Amino acid sequence: MKTVIITGSTSGIGLGIAENFAQAGYNVVLNGLGKDAEIEATRMRLASLGGGDVIFHGANMLNPDEIADLVHTAEKKFGSVEVIVPNAGIQHVEKIEDFPIGKWDAIIAINLSSAFHLIRAAMPGMKKQKFGRIIAIASAHGLVASPYKSAYVAAKHGIVGLVKTVALEGAEFGVTANAICPGYVETPLVSGQIADTAKARDMSEEDVVNEVILKAQPTKQFVKVAQIAAFAAYLASDQTAQITGAALPMDGGWTAQ
Ligand code: NAD
Repeated sequence: MKTVIITGSTSGIGLGIAENFAQAGYNVVLNGLGKDAEIEATRMRLASLGGGDVIFHGANMLNPDEIADLVHTAEKKFGSVEVIVPNAGIQHVEKIEDFPIGKWDAIIAINLSSAFHLIRAAMPGMKKQKFGRIIAIASAHGLVASPYKSAYVAAKHGIVGLVKTVALEGAEFGVTANAICPGYVETPLVSGQIADTAKARDMSEEDVVNEVILKAQPTKQFVKVAQIAAFAAYLASDQTAQITGAALPMDGGWTAQ
């Protein structure tokens, strides 16, 4: 039975990915912020979906030691970790001249450095067992920029560089590393962004959805969490052994423009 760790899986995309892996029978290690009772309810619900075990580890993505402990706890409990999904992320939208320095530091730490710490801790086990799947959730903002998102765009471009490097290091050990680059997905992270963007651009929230968000995506539709979860499951499979070091858009055509 394979084991997957998904950071930031108490909400949104990470939760959808965790659900899908649980359904497929993986052991799942949940992580993220939230209320204890809600997290326990999620853990129990996911444990009932497939044959695998589901545990929660509360590592804060700002803390490298806790991230290493997340990996080592999973290895101890399940014997091995086959798949890691660095997914946790936050956003802040503001002009660079007003961008709070603390927000820059937090976004770089949570959206980029936490992926480094997770991969660093998981790589020895993956190389040893000659199998590993590293599936980072980057963003279309790993490939192109938008104004007022300096830290987020920098961190997501960093994720793309990180998976390329790790792909080369893992290539002869059966370890692949890729980044999924979603366009806009309707999750709590985006709902917050709609309000922030409206403020930064002095627009109504409705105009932000129609003129900023859906304007970027030629399909004029949000990407669905379930679509990303299915893509992640495919990248975890044996069929994708030759896909590595890639930044793979799922963005309704956004980055084709
Ligand atoms: P979300 O806000 O619904 O979920 C974020 C998750 O990260 C939550 O589980 C939260 O608890 C966790 N998290 C935040 N800070 C943390 C910390 N310090 N330690 C541990 N966990 C922490 O957001 P989402 O939309 O599901 O985003 C998930 C990932 O997908 C992010 O990396 C985001 O950048 C990326 N993404 C989202 C979209 C989108 O449109 N929603 C598009 C492209 C990429």
